[in-house]
Amino acid sequence: MAEEPLLIEAAEGSELIDTEGRRYLDGVSSLWCNVHGHRHPAIDAAVREQLGRVAHSTMLGLSHPWATELAARLVEIAPPGLNRVFYSDSGSTAVEVALKMAFQYWQHRGGQHVRKTSFISLEGGYHGDTLGSVSVGGMPLFHSTFEPLLFRSHRVEPGNLDQVARVLAMHEEDVAAIVMEPLVQGAAGMVTHPPGFLRAVRRLCDRHGVLLICDEVATGFGRTGTMFACEQEGVSPDLLCLAKGLTGGYMPLAATLASERIYEAFLGSHAEFKTFFHGHTYTGNPLACAAALASLEVFERERTLVRLQPKIRLLREWMSQVERMREVTEVRQCGLMVGIDLGEHDPGLRLGHRVVLEARKRGVIVRPLGDVIILMPPLSISKQDLRRLVEVVAKAIRAAYPVAELDAGAKGRLDAALLEAA
Ligand code: PLP
Repeated sequence: MAEEPLLIEAAEGSELIDTEGRRYLDGVSSLWCNVHGHRHPAIDAAVREQLGRVAHSTMLGLSHPWATELAARLVEIAPPGLNRVFYSDSGSTAVEVALKMAFQYWQHRGGQHVRKTSFISLEGGYHGDTLGSVSVGGMPLFHSTFEPLLFRSHRVEPGNLDQVARVLAMHEEDVAAIVMEPLVQGAAGMVTHPPGFLRAVRRLCDRHGVLLICDEVATGFGRTGTMFACEQEGVSPDLLCLAKGLTGGYMPLAATLASERIYEAFLGSHAEFKTFFHGHTYTGNPLACAAALASLEVFERERTLVRLQPKIRLLREWMSQVERMREVTEVRQCGLMVGIDLGEHDPGLRLGHRVVLEARKRGVIVRPLGDVIILMPPLSISKQDLRRLVEVVAKAIRAAYPVAELDAGAKGRLDAALLEAA
């Protein structure tokens, strides 16, 4: 199937506009990062104002007022105990920083702690594409090619607390930290964890002297219904990774928040060289910090999280209807993050991809993860647009199905009634 390249030239609210002037609902928030809609007047103005001062100045050896103000705001809204902020520029680097900090923390602690050089991570986990993030990733399609380049990580099944406890008991002496996406594993296809899993992992980490790294790159900034997913289980990780929605989806900016105990381990005289040697050129970019500050203000002024709750409930109701479609195996939802699972199919059918193309014809942009269709609209989406998103995706699934099965000459799941309807 030929795929038309689509060039996005402009955007407005929840919609993207291509070079032909066609409008599309942004059903995946421009890769899970847009929060308050495109071209939000307050964020636009903040970035323009910042352009009138300075676009970029390094954070290496210097700082700037927007970085310090943003750090203070992040500490205010983050789970308790996360008092220190280290900037970088993408989700992958936020995780990379957390991994290196966790490792170096134990090196500084000295004694037998220096043996803590490995990690525990979850099957199906996704933490970015840099080699550290890939080492704790659990998606063979993305990660297995790089196996010879990766460091050691003990993989556990999401939700399997007994297994986490067993691996911790066996390896507490060599494990620096557990890395996980809290509540829901996005790139795995919105795989949700059983309630209480995160809280129980936190307790196990404390019992075994292992740090907890929560990767809220996808779940952060309201996606799950609360500012951070960790809040829902009353958990404070030792390290928290933020990116994507941090700037409202405007600019590449990331932050790794750390507890005081981790920060203090890096203090010492110059000659001790306890420094955390990690700095990217555009770390803490002022334009991005200005966008992030404006986005956090919009959260307050527009009561974004309060206004989000009825939309989450409506989406749940509509999704239960989608789940009843014969083409759909399961729907998984956490807040405004949804995965519509179409089940196991021959990868050659490229069913998920076909659904995406059908949705595009109908004015909606979504993306598949294999045969799981992901919906993750901006938090600011109107109820009408949310309804449109669900309806179009349901129609796109219907439309893609028979075509996909016929093209590949597949048998089995296709039934005659569905074919007639097509
Ligand atoms: N961590 C999680 C949970 C993610 O979902 C992603 C990206 O989807 C990343 C990290 C990587 O973020 P980035 O693409 O900004 O490097």
